[in-house]
Amino acid sequence: MDIKNVVILGSGPAGLTAGIYAARSDLKPILVSGSTPGGQLTITSLVENYPGFENGILGPELMLKMQKQAENTGVIFEDGTVVKVDFSNRPFTIFTEDKQFKTRTVIISTGASVKWLGLDGETRLMGKGVSGCATCDGPFFKDKDIVVVGGGDSAMEESLFLTKFVKKIYLVHRRDEFRASKIMQDRVLKDPKIEILFNSELQDIYGENIVEGVKVLNNKTNSINDIKVQGVFIAIGHTPNTEIFREFIDTDNNGYIKVHEFTKTNVPGVFAAGDVSDPKYKQAISSAGLGCIAAMDAMHFIEGLNPKV
Ligand code: NAP
Repeated sequence: MDIKNVVILGSGPAGLTAGIYAARSDLKPILVSGSTPGGQLTITSLVENYPGFENGILGPELMLKMQKQAENTGVIFEDGTVVKVDFSNRPFTIFTEDKQFKTRTVIISTGASVKWLGLDGETRLMGKGVSGCATCDGPFFKDKDIVVVGGGDSAMEESLFLTKFVKKIYLVHRRDEFRASKIMQDRVLKDPKIEILFNSELQDIYGENIVEGVKVLNNKTNSINDIKVQGVFIAIGHTPNTEIFREFIDTDNNGYIKVHEFTKTNVPGVFAAGDVSDPKYKQAISSAGLGCIAAMDAMHFIEGLNPKV
């Protein structure tokens, strides 16, 4: 089996940018697309904060453009998902459902998945009032009434961001105290646009073709409250897609890959970029930047290999 220079795992902004840089450095990168080609941006609508598009661009269109650019620079795309890795021997081995690759370096950019409640209405009304990303979709809810679900820093941050646009927010949390940091809680508690519903669980999101309202269960009194809203933001956290790497790669308590110097993992030659190693910023543009850094780091690593295994 020939040995590749770099195998990139994931096809969101981090993976595709890494691919473009690696291909232009003549590393002939292989990019394994993963289960959601294009990543999280493919489930958003208008992206107004990615530089270069004066009127914004639809998320799926942006990802298609990045993919085409990566193809044009020479990235070799492999459909499918990585099911196993072996970082214990060099060259490293990457296993997809039906192929194996030996490679000198790996860039992990498998992203993170939004956690969902699992309600029918979530999938049915996704993009029609249901969202998992306030930064992406907030401006579409100008002067609307909405619900945010969650009690951690994400829910606080998303609620505070959404107050810039919406008329009213019902913040639904399942317990009687927040998990979020005190400073974030204080800001939320002080905001006149936010009404907090503690001990509350979303039971249903309804609407024909667009969100019209929600049913909220008070788990102390067992009463159900019907609230008319036009938007529902689920902010109960993200799960980084790191399960298959954890045998070899150090992660934090929430499963995010630990990196030093931006993209370096505990295994020299294995780099991480994007949401998979970023619990804080989680933006397309910051992921793309990290993808660029990871590809340059991989290139320098390969240059330093002696002998070139
Ligand atoms: P998190 O801290 O895990 O909080 C998730 C919240 O969602 C919790 O309040 C949890 O309720 C609730 N939740 C989880 N599953 C649920 C379900 N099935 N139904 C209803 N509620 C559910 O996640 P996060 O807020 O995304 O934060 C993740 C990490 O990133 C944290 O370390 C956080 O500090 C950090 N972060 C920091 C910032 C910032 O500093 N600006 C911003 C965002 C995130 P319970 O409390 O009852 O478990």
